Amino acid sequence: MRALPAAFGEYRWAPSTEAIAAELGLDPALIRRFDGNVPASPSPTAGPAFIVDALAKVNEYAHGGFPALVDAIAEYAGVEPQNVVLGAGADDLILLSARTFAGPDDVVAIDVDPTYPLFRIAAHLAGAEVGDVDPAVTFTCRPNNPTGALGSLSFARPLVVDEAYFEYAGETAAGLIGDGIVVLRTFSKAFGLASARVGYALADAATAAELDRRQAPQPISGISAALALAALAAGPPDVREQVAERDRCAASLGEIGLGSLPSRANFLFVPMENPDGVGAALLRQGLVVRVFPDGIRFSVRDRDDDDRLLEALAAAAEYR
Ligand code: PMP
Repeated sequence: MRALPAAFGEYRWAPSTEAIAAELGLDPALIRRFDGNVPASPSPTAGPAFIVDALAKVNEYAHGGFPALVDAIAEYAGVEPQNVVLGAGADDLILLSARTFAGPDDVVAIDVDPTYPLFRIAAHLAGAEVGDVDPAVTFTCRPNNPTGALGSLSFARPLVVDEAYFEYAGETAAGLIGDGIVVLRTFSKAFGLASARVGYALADAATAAELDRRQAPQPISGISAALALAALAAGPPDVREQVAERDRCAASLGEIGLGSLPSRANFLFVPMENPDGVGAALLRQGLVVRVFPDGIRFSVRDRDDDDRLLEALAAAAEYR
């Protein structure tokens, strides 16, 4: 086995809802997850009717890939089909980008800190180190996870811009793919298809071809491709409700004396003194947030669930 760098730490998922419920002695139906940065329910357009055709062909490989999906993504993103690379979620494309641009003895730069942990993991898995000097590639996240900030676009090239939350912010670097930028996007967030595992990269045609050469032969399933195509066929996702709910939550937090960082995504980061204590207090009530060393992050769900969380936060004395 090839040794991993000493600094490597694998990605760690939070426990399942069932495991959390069992640990707390609660009914799993009472658990509310605010830790996934995904919508509270599937998109109404992505229902079973759309996958009937894919199920009828489930014994076949999708010979020739998924050109209809690639075409639809290209149209949605305002690029040509040869600029699109499919992957099993943005995560897969982060790993693909790292191994395409970097290898042993290379340095991978990560533009913001804190940010999405998979950039570092992907760099290490590619055999590269994370640093700032002469990077082979730079990763950045806009809007950033966990802060929600839409930072300025680095001048570093090549630059991989993770736009997992692009739809909520409405700002993209897709117009710069001719200038050494690779944009990564996903169907997991605004399209509500996290479990389907569909993402895509946008890059100039030559870079896209090089990414594709290093990609698995068929990284997404026919069923997932059908779900993504169905979602796109319904038109651009409407994020207005989620954005308004995010801003309502931010205002409510202010009223209870807790500030949140300005967010352009579907989650809020709340800096606080004692995030472990607050996180534990929320968890005892079945409210699962993401705990960081200097705050908690929660994704916006719906008014009822969010009110439950806001009330519990107001009552959690630990942060004072
Ligand atoms: N990038 C960022 C910034 C994310 O927050 C996430 C979701 N955790 C991902 C990528 C992964 O998304 P996907 O489900 O498309 O792999």
